[in-house]
Amino acid sequence: MTKLHTVTLIPGDGIGPEITRAVTRVLHAANAPLVWEEQAAGAAVLETEGSVLPQRVLDSIAKNGVALKGPITTPIGKGFRSVNVALRKALDLYACVRPAKTLPGVKSRYTGVDLVIVRENTEDLYAGLERKIDEDTAESIKRITRGASERIARYAFAYAVQNGRKKVTAVSKANICKFSDGLFLEAVRKVAQEYPQIAYEEVLVDNLCMQLVINPENYDVLVLPNLYGDIVSDLAAGLTGGLGVAPGANIGQKAAVFEAVHGSSPALAGQQKANPTALLLSACLMLRHLGETACAQKIEAALLQTLQEGETLTFDLGGHASTDEFAQAVIAHL
Ligand code: NAD
Repeated sequence: MTKLHTVTLIPGDGIGPEITRAVTRVLHAANAPLVWEEQAAGAAVLETEGSVLPQRVLDSIAKNGVALKGPITTPIGKGFRSVNVALRKALDLYACVRPAKTLPGVKSRYTGVDLVIVRENTEDLYAGLERKIDEDTAESIKRITRGASERIARYAFAYAVQNGRKKVTAVSKANICKFSDGLFLEAVRKVAQEYPQIAYEEVLVDNLCMQLVINPENYDVLVLPNLYGDIVSDLAAGLTGGLGVAPGANIGQKAAVFEAVHGSSPALAGQQKANPTALLLSACLMLRHLGETACAQKIEAALLQTLQEGETLTFDLGGHASTDEFAQAVIAHL
């Protein structure tokens, strides 16, 4: 009998529930050997449970080891802290892995982009060390540690070896943030020496942004502190067709949470307009993580065929199909 994997499913809010429903339909049609344990989180449960990230959500992910997650809104300025950041910290999901690859059939200004962002996911300006000094002054502490920097560097180089990649580029602003980014770079350099078979280079983040726009095909694996990784992820998504097609994973020693790069996109919510591709590709990363490679390949092939044919596309890719119609087209190609 096929082994079934129990996976925590967090539909999220905004466009989250629509794209999650579309993705679970495709996974079901592909006979993915999964059993869902659905867990609500975010603003919707704050009133009833007193927390945006109740302990039951963390317990479920810790028990199952794997989750598929829709996006969750974080209020800007006031309100609660990010559920997404809290989840990554609570489960020590230290490596945020985001492949950015041009897809056949998806219009983009570029061809041949095939890079992977490996973003440190637990510290930097996301450590939550912020304070208001007075009405007119506030400060945030950018915390970088040798331990977390070495750990993410090791992940990036090991990923490169395991996935047949040739080069790792360390990204920083060490010319200005001499202590914090300087420490990050020092840690990555040390780990680079352990991997002579992988080429290693360093680039400043501002220069990287320009280089990515001019010659994105020059990059392979990028390793970055948290904030630069966040920003460069959206830039990389823009190189390959937009946030609607950019997948991601948050990996720790004991658990992994798979989610799209994009957010909850409140302006699109409830309209059946959002593209479920990014979450579907994230689900394929999850299937591979679970060892269900054949199932992932089957879904990816159906997805690529749907994109390439170009008859049933969501608005962000120039089409008129709804979220569900797109999912149905992928199912028809399985
Ligand atoms: P966003 O990613 O939600 O949207 C940015 C742009 O991309 C918008 O124009 C949106 O319409 C488009 N877009 C995003 N996903 C799409 C999809 N699947 N199909 C088609 N178009 C898509 O970013 P934002 O507007 O800056 O953030 C909205 C909220 O999401 C914020 O509260 C933010 O904090 C949160 N957020 C959550 C996560 C997460 O849950 N991991 C990640 C990023 C942002």
